[in-house]
Amino acid sequence: MRGPVASCTVVRAAAPGVPGGGGPARRRPADGPWRPGLDWERALRVIDAADEICLACHVVPDGDALGSMLALTQALRGLGKRCVASFGEPFVIPASLRFLPGQELLADPATVPSAPQLMIALDSAGPERLGSLAGPATSAAELIVVDHHATGSDFGTVRLVDPGAAATAVLVDELIRRLGAPLTHDIAEGLYAGLASDTGSFKYPCTTPQVHDLAGRLLEVGVRPETVSRELWDRAPFGYLQVLAGALARARLERDAAGGLGLVWTTIALADRAARDVPFDQLEGVIDQLRRTDEAEVAVVLKETDAGEWYVSTRAKGRVDVGSACSALGGGGHRDAAAYTASGDPEDLIDGLRAALRPLGTTDPAESVT
Ligand code: MN
Repeated sequence: MRGPVASCTVVRAAAPGVPGGGGPARRRPADGPWRPGLDWERALRVIDAADEICLACHVVPDGDALGSMLALTQALRGLGKRCVASFGEPFVIPASLRFLPGQELLADPATVPSAPQLMIALDSAGPERLGSLAGPATSAAELIVVDHHATGSDFGTVRLVDPGAAATAVLVDELIRRLGAPLTHDIAEGLYAGLASDTGSFKYPCTTPQVHDLAGRLLEVGVRPETVSRELWDRAPFGYLQVLAGALARARLERDAAGGLGLVWTTIALADRAARDVPFDQLEGVIDQLRRTDEAEVAVVLKETDAGEWYVSTRAKGRVDVGSACSALGGGGHRDAAAYTASGDPEDLIDGLRAALRPLGTTDPAESVT
């Protein structure tokens, strides 16, 4: 019952910029303008020169973040590199990702050196996405950023950032190929999990011929698609079904919202899931049930975290840019899938979000978003 974690990027970079390779590594400000870039040569050089490589993906990792990181970690180890792979607290592997090969290689984030020789950040549009590992990332002598988000900050000394890539896994596959590392079954399974996650199981618009070509190569080395899909989406404890039933029963449909395109939303309070012993990370699939609603362009699930904040997941179907709305509210994501975290009463939060939703192509009424 778990859903894909993030939609793909459908916005291409205005210019397929490739920052100059070969120059000396330059520290770039973490808050500078976002830029794409595919500096493969410099990436290979700094990897070749490093004895130990630290890898990090974003906090609360999804299939693309963790699958890509574990695939690259295994490939680098196969090349004889010492690797320290982790992600910022909470250092808990989501239940749906516990099948991924190579997770015995993960290290507690507290053991990551404070200023590594080389760090590789995956699926993270900015240092803040790395949580407690933002410090080591920004202090590393070299930082390779491997990402496919179309927005973010200009961090890293080497950028492997392509907003046209369906998943970070696509870029990691290319990096592994350029490194000359063999594509083993275990590496391929991580990449397939990333590809399947970020294409919504090969349903989103980013599912290009190239995506299927890569999927085909991964199947050729023995990945079983039914195994990965079942682990990612098609299993849950019974308590989850009960929590889902409650969330669906509470769902509200507002046909006039989002410029008349419709909004459907629901909440899952901490008490709702605590009663069924369902952890927060088990709730990702709820939004995929809600977004089926024909009468609503936008689907929203407000989920209370263990800390008592509300994590607001949003999805759209192509006629509203929820990425912009969530960015305006302090979060981020893609045009069709985005999120933010906020405190307060869910009714007030949905009021604020509703004000930020408008059909694509219409102008901002009054910058009324607060
Ligand atoms: Mn991704």
